[in-house]
Amino acid sequence: MNAAAPADIDPRTALVLFSGGQDSTVCLAWALSRYARVETIGFDYGQRHRVELACRGVVREALVNAFPRWGARLGEDHLLDLGLLGQISQTALTDDRAIEMQANGLPNTFVPGRNLLFLNLAAVVAYRRGASVLVGGMCETDYSGYPDCRDNTLKALQVALSLGLDTPMTVETPLMFIDKAQTWSLSEGLGGAALQAIIREHTHTCYQGVRDHVHEWGRGCGSCPACELRAQGWQRFVQAAASARAG
Ligand code: ZN
Repeated sequence: MNAAAPADIDPRTALVLFSGGQDSTVCLAWALSRYARVETIGFDYGQRHRVELACRGVVREALVNAFPRWGARLGEDHLLDLGLLGQISQTALTDDRAIEMQANGLPNTFVPGRNLLFLNLAAVVAYRRGASVLVGGMCETDYSGYPDCRDNTLKALQVALSLGLDTPMTVETPLMFIDKAQTWSLSEGLGGAALQAIIREHTHTCYQGVRDHVHEWGRGCGSCPACELRAQGWQRFVQAAASARAG
């Protein structure tokens, strides 16, 4: 199948860390526009709101329907049960602790080093599936406080995985140095208005799990840190696009 791929398509298989959110959907589109074959992996770790996991299948199907050339490259989805994360999270260790948002916009149930665990597990699945590229939406711009999302961490992990598996394992992070507005620009370049419509309608970001409030940037409560970040990014993208047209 790879032999028939166009010359500008990377013949490797990529495994995308796909949560059903805005960032990982852009990463999935990015991978589908580059690699001959793309599979997705998600992690069920008892997320407070199951809605994001439910979005995964919906987004995959919408992409296949809207972009047949991507649909031909999109392979299996893998969903791993990571219930053990609940055993090692802060909430489980101090079980009277209320779940609340921290100033950095992440819930206090956040597990330090979580992305390292995800990438290690993804690498094992990738090895088994013959994939040699891992794609993740880690980003220094929005969550610079999280060391396991930083570029140098992931570069080091790429080396460790490639040595430990004794095969090249590339870690790609297309969102690493761009902000939310630039992520919208990237999505426009990858799939235009059709891709942006899928992101707005079907991806989930809201920490409160709200799906029935519709905004021009997507669905959500509109006031949690995740919604605010998403709304501000969309506004900046729209303003930049308008001034580019005017200029
Ligand atoms: Zn929200």
